[in-house]
Amino acid sequence: TVKGNGKNNFSVFNESIEHQSFERRILENALRKGIKERQFYLEYQPKLNICTNEVIGMEALVRWKHPDLGTIPPMKFIPLAESTGLIVPLGEWVLRESCRQTKEWQDKGYGPLSVSVNISVRQLEEPNFIEQVHKILKETGLDPKWLEFEVTESIFADLKNTVSILQEVRKLGIQISVDDFGTGYSSLSYIKHLPIDTLKVDQSFVKDIHVNQESQAIVLAVLNLAKTIGLNVIAEGIELEEHVSRLSERGLLFGQGYYYSKPLRKEAFEEFVNNNAVV
Ligand code: C2E
Ligand code: MG
Ligand code: MG
Ligand code: MG
Repeated sequence: TVKGNGKNNFSVFNESIEHQSFERRILENALRKGIKERQFYLEYQPKLNICTNEVIGMEALVRWKHPDLGTIPPMKFIPLAESTGLIVPLGEWVLRESCRQTKEWQDKGYGPLSVSVNISVRQLEEPNFIEQVHKILKETGLDPKWLEFEVTESIFADLKNTVSILQEVRKLGIQISVDDFGTGYSSLSYIKHLPIDTLKVDQSFVKDIHVNQESQAIVLAVLNLAKTIGLNVIAEGIELEEHVSRLSERGLLFGQGYYYSKPLRKEAFEEFVNNNAVV
């Protein structure tokens, strides 16, 4: 970094902003091209009943395999896809492919798997979103009861509009889960008015639940809240045996995380389900 007078610092600052927007434009163009050239694929992370170890479904997570840069993680391109609107065509592909794959697995006898798909607020705002979703369900033949949308708490910030769209989503028979629950600013009191089915406890509370009393208290509070108003709870980011025992002894039933499996490509997921079949 350049030390010196304010003027110097100012020009350095400017340069880095310009550089940032330059990189951003390159990445945006690459993203646009990537969508056109189908450089994306999905991984599926198993969701389990943590008492029986039965696989109940999976979360679909998008991956970008750039021909020169290699695999680029979602954290690097989802925010850009959201701010540029490219999440709309990308998200549509993710949803279609998730539904298609799930229907294929069900037809092949992999069991009653339900699939969770992350949906950005930007997608919900598209005027024809519901129409698109309906079309994808029809095209792929997936029964909507096996489909779940994961939305973050922040989606409820501008209430009225998103709530009515999510009501439409639920009318289609799709489940709704609040992702990263506990990290937003939502007041717990209005949760009961929202069209949701499941709270997904954020991984930050799971991570240290075996050593941190506050995290234990938060998870317990979420479980109690959910029980009172009739919602399901799932925990993400389960990495350790201790996480499983702490969560299950508090009455939590469902979870996902590296302890069970990292997100897997199609073939590896099939193998996982085959090896885990309990019934
Ligand atoms: P998320 O929906 O909260 O997904 C969970 C993230 O945690 C995933 O990261 C997953 O690989 C990771 N994870 C799973 N188990 C563990 C664990 O035991 N420990 C730790 N430390 N991490 C674990 P990933 O795949 O990099 O995705 C990051 C975020 O990108 C997602 O967070 C989601 O917000 C977003 N994202 C991914 N795919 C999509 C998509 O298709 N559409 C949209 N809109 N967003 C997506
Ligand atoms: Mg998610
Ligand atoms: Mg999450
Ligand atoms: Mg997250």
